[in-house]
Amino acid sequence: MNIPSLHHYFLQSSGISTDTRKIYKNSLYFALKGENFNGNLFAQEALDKGAFKVVIDEAAFHKTNGETILVENVLLALQQLASFHRKYLNLPIISLTGSNGKTTSKELINAVLSQKFNTVATQGNLNNHIGVPLTLLKMDKQTELGIVEMGANHLGEIKLLSEIAKPDYGYITNFGKAHLEGFGSLEGVIQGKTELYQFLKQNNKKVFVNASDPKQMENSTGIDRITFGTAQSDFNIQLLDSSHHLLVAFGDTKIQSNLVGAYNFVNLSAAIAIGAYFQVSSEKIKAGIESYIPSNNRSQVIAKGSNNILMDAYNANPTSMLAALENFKQTAGANKILFLGDMFELGKDAEKEHQNIVDFLAENPFGSVYLIGINFFKTSNPASHIKQFETFDELKKTLAKENPKNATILIKGSRGMALERILDVI
Ligand code: ATP
Ligand code: MG
Repeated sequence: MNIPSLHHYFLQSSGISTDTRKIYKNSLYFALKGENFNGNLFAQEALDKGAFKVVIDEAAFHKTNGETILVENVLLALQQLASFHRKYLNLPIISLTGSNGKTTSKELINAVLSQKFNTVATQGNLNNHIGVPLTLLKMDKQTELGIVEMGANHLGEIKLLSEIAKPDYGYITNFGKAHLEGFGSLEGVIQGKTELYQFLKQNNKKVFVNASDPKQMENSTGIDRITFGTAQSDFNIQLLDSSHHLLVAFGDTKIQSNLVGAYNFVNLSAAIAIGAYFQVSSEKIKAGIESYIPSNNRSQVIAKGSNNILMDAYNANPTSMLAALENFKQTAGANKILFLGDMFELGKDAEKEHQNIVDFLAENPFGSVYLIGINFFKTSNPASHIKQFETFDELKKTLAKENPKNATILIKGSRGMALERILDVI
């Protein structure tokens, strides 16, 4: 099957589906393969549940009645279909990547731009080699602007995603120590993320740059830049108050966000600058930002009993962990408690990076610290205000005896640590 014909079927369908548990009527089902599943096995089920046609790559499941479309490789077909669809769409796309804050920035940018435009943005965190094609295939002739989050944990990934999404504008939130396992080092991270800058440069596209970040300025030279972050920038946003939910100003407009954490200032600034660039009025920028409430344990404030909890258990890496600690250090509160879980995907740097965090906490004793996970357990720790627990169950036993009261609490760790479980025990 050639891609133009597949696109023809796509336009006749109600959209793409990839999971027979969530199939919808008349959708074009792609039988993707994963480590633990083979979508081809569910082709018939997809049809039984109302799929329009199914795209498969194993001849054994092929039917001659036209219901199945046999391709060489389903994933490749999905990517090629998205790439073909991109050419059919006639709209600007903004792509963003970076180590931390992609989804938050994407949500904020979409909240602002959707005040004026018919937008389609990445849903949730669907930012990989499957999610990016699916995002593009959600756009149609009515869509006026696309916002695409791109994630990567190894070199070449952002290049591939850029070639599929062909962004007209790019934005890199930051370079940090995330996914070191796949990238090897911070230099590797920079090389990987700047594949977006390379694409924009080669195709004469534009880029939004946080001018207060020298590494972004250095790596984006030679691209048509739209800047924010300093007084000399194209767009100047001020931080008025960071003691609780961040309050910022853009010109005469004060904007009260629902975000905590000083590190969110740059995420807010990017969304405001991008909105202003696309001539969204200040009132609408304000309305968009003020409507956004973070979810999924990303820097959420939760009051429970006598405790006030800053829940940041969505994920963690050395850069975002330090940003969160710096922020929590400045946060008011007489009785501060930190629950910190292991940071994953650090490869050979795991030991060093966990020790760094422990050293920071030993030098900055601003609260009692509970460290959870095998990596934190293995660090050497001379400070009495820091306790180490190898497993979550060990922590639970201790909390059964000493439950925090009247405390200001930070909870942060990698997704796999699922530290939101702490809410059930305090
Ligand atoms: P993922 O790699 O899972 O897609 P992401 O880049 O989309 O992550 P978010 O989901 O927006 O990031 O935020 C995750 C966490 O990263 C937040 O809860 C916060 O702790 C931290 N974070 C957000 N923005 C920044 C930033 N600008 N600098 C440092 N840390 C940040
Ligand atoms: Mg994300």
